[in-house]
Amino acid sequence: MAITEELSALRDDTLAAIAAAETTAALEEVRVAVLGKAGSLTGYLRSMGQVPKEERAAVGKAVNEARVAVEEALGARKATLDAAELDAAMDAAAVDVTLPGRVQQRGTRHLINGIIDEISEIFLGLGYSVAEGPEVETDYYNFEALNAPADHPSRSMQDTFYVLDRSGDAARVRGESEVLLRTQTSGVQVHAMEDQELPIYVIAPGKVYRRDVADPSHLPQFHQIEGLVVDEGITFADLKGTLDYLCKQIFGPERKTRFRAHYFPFTEPSAEVDVSCGICHGEGCRMCKGTGWLEILGCGMVDPNVLGMSGIDPERYSGFAFGMGVERIACLKYNVPDLRMLLEGDMRFLRQF
Ligand SMILES: [Zn+2]
Repeated sequence: MAITEELSALRDDTLAAIAAAETTAALEEVRVAVLGKAGSLTGYLRSMGQVPKEERAAVGKAVNEARVAVEEALGARKATLDAAELDAAMDAAAVDVTLPGRVQQRGTRHLINGIIDEISEIFLGLGYSVAEGPEVETDYYNFEALNAPADHPSRSMQDTFYVLDRSGDAARVRGESEVLLRTQTSGVQVHAMEDQELPIYVIAPGKVYRRDVADPSHLPQFHQIEGLVVDEGITFADLKGTLDYLCKQIFGPERKTRFRAHYFPFTEPSAEVDVSCGICHGEGCRMCKGTGWLEILGCGMVDPNVLGMSGIDPERYSGFAFGMGVERIACLKYNVPDLRMLLEGDMRFLRQF
C-alpha cells in the first residue's frame, strides 16, 4: 500500500477516534498516540528521509494535511468536552435553593431553671439580691441557728442525709457540728445575717435534699427559693404585700392569696400561703381537692431569737422570711400531675415550656 493511502487510513481512523472520545482524558490519549513524540503520525514525519526523492513532496503534503485535519478535530472536540465537563461540575456542586431547610434541634431551658429565673427576676425588680450557699452544710446553719436545737421536733419532721467520715461515724466540723446535705436553703439566710450589712433583702434559690422516696408529690432532691428581709420597721403587712405581689406575678393578676396561721421554728408568727385555684377559681375541683385553694409557700416574721443569734439587735430591726418549692410552683403553674415528670428528661414533655 502506498504511503499516501496509509496516511489517509490513519487520518480517518484518528478522526473517528476523536469523535468517539467521551472525556478530555480519552481525547488526550488519542492525541498522544498520534501526535506525541512516539505517535504514529510523528513517525511518518521522522522517516521522511527514507522516502524516495520523487515521492517526498506528495508524502510530505499528505502528512501535513493529515496533521492539520487531526489538530483541528482535536481542538473542536476538546472545546465541546470542556464545556460539557464544566456543566457537569457545576450541576454536581449546585445548591437547590427550592429544597426546604433542615430544622436545627435547639435545646430549651429546663422548666425548673425557668421558674427559678422568673422568680429571681421578680425579686431583682423589687431590689433584692440573689445569694447562694453550700449544699453540704453544718447542723448549726441548717437547724440550730434557725431556732431548732437538737431535741426540736422539726428535726424529726425532716429526715436528713448525714455525711459520714472514713470510719463511718457522722462527720463533724471542729468536733462539734455534724455535716449534712442541707434540707432547706434557710442556712443561706443565716450566712446573710452574719455576713451582710443591714438592711438585708435577699433570696436564695438552690437544691435541697431529704430522705424521701420519689413519688408523685415527693422527691429526695428538689429546689427551694427562700427569701429574707431584715430592716427597720418591717411588719407583717410588708410580708403580705410582697407575697401577694409575687403570686400575682407568677400566676396572674386575677389570683387571690390567703394566709393561714402555721408553725415554723424560726418565724413568729408564721403562716402558710394559699393561692386561689386557677382551674375552678374557688369553686372546688380535683386539682385543689375541692377547697378552691392551692398551698404554695410558708412564711413568717423572723423570730427575735434568730436575729439575736446572728448578732442583729431585735429591738431595732425586724424582718420576714418565706420559702417555696420550685417544683411545686412549676406543677401548679402548668398543671403537671407528677413531680417525677420534671426529672425524667423526656424531650416531648420538656419542649412544651
Ligand atoms: Zn380548683
